[in-house]
Amino acid sequence: MADDGQKRDYYEVLGISKDATPDEIKKAYRMLAKKYHPDVSTEPKDVAEAKFKEISEAYEVLSDSQKRQLYDQYGHAGVDSQFSGGHFTWDDFTHGDDLNDIFGDLFGSFFGGMGGGSGRRAASPNAPHAGESLRYDIEVSLLDVLRGKEAEISIPHVSVCPDCRGTGSKGGKVHTCPTCGGRGQVQSIKRTPFGQMVSVSECPTCRGRGSSYDECCPKCRGAGRIESTVKVSIKIPAGVEDNMRLRIAGQGDAGYNGGPSGDLYVVIHVKDDKRFKRNGSDLWVEAETTYPRLVLGGSVDVTNLEGQTVNVTIPSGTQVGAVLKVSGMGLPTVNRSTRGAMYVKLGIKVPKRTSAYEKELLQKLDADAGSKKKAKLKDKLGL
Ligand SMILES: [Zn+2]
Ligand SMILES: [Zn+2]
Repeated sequence: MADDGQKRDYYEVLGISKDATPDEIKKAYRMLAKKYHPDVSTEPKDVAEAKFKEISEAYEVLSDSQKRQLYDQYGHAGVDSQFSGGHFTWDDFTHGDDLNDIFGDLFGSFFGGMGGGSGRRAASPNAPHAGESLRYDIEVSLLDVLRGKEAEISIPHVSVCPDCRGTGSKGGKVHTCPTCGGRGQVQSIKRTPFGQMVSVSECPTCRGRGSSYDECCPKCRGAGRIESTVKVSIKIPAGVEDNMRLRIAGQGDAGYNGGPSGDLYVVIHVKDDKRFKRNGSDLWVEAETTYPRLVLGGSVDVTNLEGQTVNVTIPSGTQVGAVLKVSGMGLPTVNRSTRGAMYVKLGIKVPKRTSAYEKELLQKLDADAGSKKKAKLKDKLGL
């Protein structure tokens, strides 16, 4: 009878009982995460990904005591902002024991074929549930990756109306709704050819809130939430990688009717650098030197990411395109202080103009190399 998109119970997903301790939840999650993580799972990739997503979501809710409480009380509707319009769950109908017995059958046969339309409406959108999570994208440079970065970002989001403290009532004064007695729902009994049918609908007086007020809050016009821009300080750790997310708990949109706020996710994008290419914690850079230095050995000056000049030794007999490694001059890894390496790929600078003297030297060198080759060949052929 459920929607096609109906989610599995989070406890069922993790294979634990409703009264599992935080430790048991963590243990179950770790075990399943090891099994289904797309990088290690033996399942087909799409199956593993879907499974992993499901267990991660279940864990995110059940490991957070506030979200777990909401979930226990209101089901998925309590914690899933995707269904903030009021998702249909059976938990919403457990107010009043007298109704439970009848509902089991009635909803199964009547509402089942209706695509959940009536069911959705019956679950009060005004029950407390979590606010939407927000996403913020930020660009950082490689130097920021090296040093870490603190930033203050402005985020337009929805917050609790300060005038009415989220109640929607002028001055925050509310009283229990006289129509529904605080339940937020009213029931009516209709006679149909199939017998009596009990239907539950949102209380028309309080529109599901369970409380009502005489005067509407002028600031939020009764919504209890207002649009505002907040400044949030974020700390981007050194070593961050492209597309890493920072989760800032509770900085998303305000919850509905006392529900918890959503989270803010800061997605980090690392800008390409003109000189350096990144490979994990290693940096690659190109440098030019001369033919004699490759032959005889010497050194080359390379500017590192910080802008310092580093003198890198070139061993004699180094080939064009050879790579020299400078340890400890790459990037850090998140939560680790060690740095990767800087790899310097050597090229040759060919002068476009040469002096007569240089020309003479080069010609000698070339003739010499030619005669050496001839001598070697003669040797080989036994001439
Ligand atoms: Zn009411
Ligand atoms: Zn207000």
